[in-house]
Amino acid sequence: MRASDLLKPRPEGLYCPPGDFFIDPVRPVERALITHGHSDHARSGHGSVLATRQTLDIMALRYGEDFAGTTQAAVLGETIDLTGVSVSFHPAGHVLGSAQIAVEHRGMRIVASGDYKRQKDDTCQTFEPIPCDIFITEATFGLPVFRHPPDTEEIARLLKSAAQFPERSHLIGAYALGKAQRVMRLLRDCGYDRPIYIHGALAKLSEYYQRQGIDLGQLDPATVDSAGKDDFAGAIVVGPPAAFADRWARRFPDPISCFASGWMRIRQRAKQGGVELPLIISDHADWDELTTTIKETGAAEIWVTHGREEALVRWCELEGIAARPLHLVGYEDEGD
Ligand SMILES: [Zn+2]
Repeated sequence: MRASDLLKPRPEGLYCPPGDFFIDPVRPVERALITHGHSDHARSGHGSVLATRQTLDIMALRYGEDFAGTTQAAVLGETIDLTGVSVSFHPAGHVLGSAQIAVEHRGMRIVASGDYKRQKDDTCQTFEPIPCDIFITEATFGLPVFRHPPDTEEIARLLKSAAQFPERSHLIGAYALGKAQRVMRLLRDCGYDRPIYIHGALAKLSEYYQRQGIDLGQLDPATVDSAGKDDFAGAIVVGPPAAFADRWARRFPDPISCFASGWMRIRQRAKQGGVELPLIISDHADWDELTTTIKETGAAEIWVTHGREEALVRWCELEGIAARPLHLVGYEDEGD
């Protein structure tokens, strides 16, 4: 069979005709397989959803218990038969619950990796390369300029600044699912044991991470109403990036604006966003991780879903690996 008979792009997302399901559809469909809980991949309103237990839990937290008609939890590494098509979920290392989805039929295996990274992250399971005929990869940071430094180095810079300016607060913009909890876990790993103050938008997900056994230490609400402004002198406050544009952020004493994202590699971008302390911490693979992973899967063909497709496709061609961009639309990752 041809690969495009097993998985093909449709306006709703990647579609598997023999299995009659979509992977990470951007519009409501009958049957959806979902790689992870970021809002551009996990949408509400599908007839049925197959995803890991943690992704289902995260979707319920974000959309309410009735986010889909029916749900089924996929156990990592176990094969499920969907009308003759074998599917299995494998860790992607992106955020808690994130998975790659392997689709196998008549001797052909395609792996849709969703979003992934290879850097160590104690808030989720480590990526596992799955041998396959075709590997579908994202390319959010698919340019050689994107090389993420070790995350502990970035946190060390933050802690140095906090020590240097004990009277000021440090406001860290970090996406509500994954990045925020990873930053908090990293702070603990680097020995920071004071309470971390969090914006209300992070509360439910952070509590869920803690319940799943990921120790984030003491988290207190970052509400100035109940405390005096001075109580936040020297504090580290974490909130979603959008919160930093509103009045909430101006309540803190002489705040230093920080943002944890792979895009912080681009100085111009940090400057335009008014970020004083850019932290290059990403939940996506950088250029080296993308190219290493492609080689490790042994795939003869690569499909590139979203991001900087052209450079990665060109790299594959130079390496003698067939590659093509899928031009899927609707994926603006909330967790870069
Ligand atoms: Zn994502």
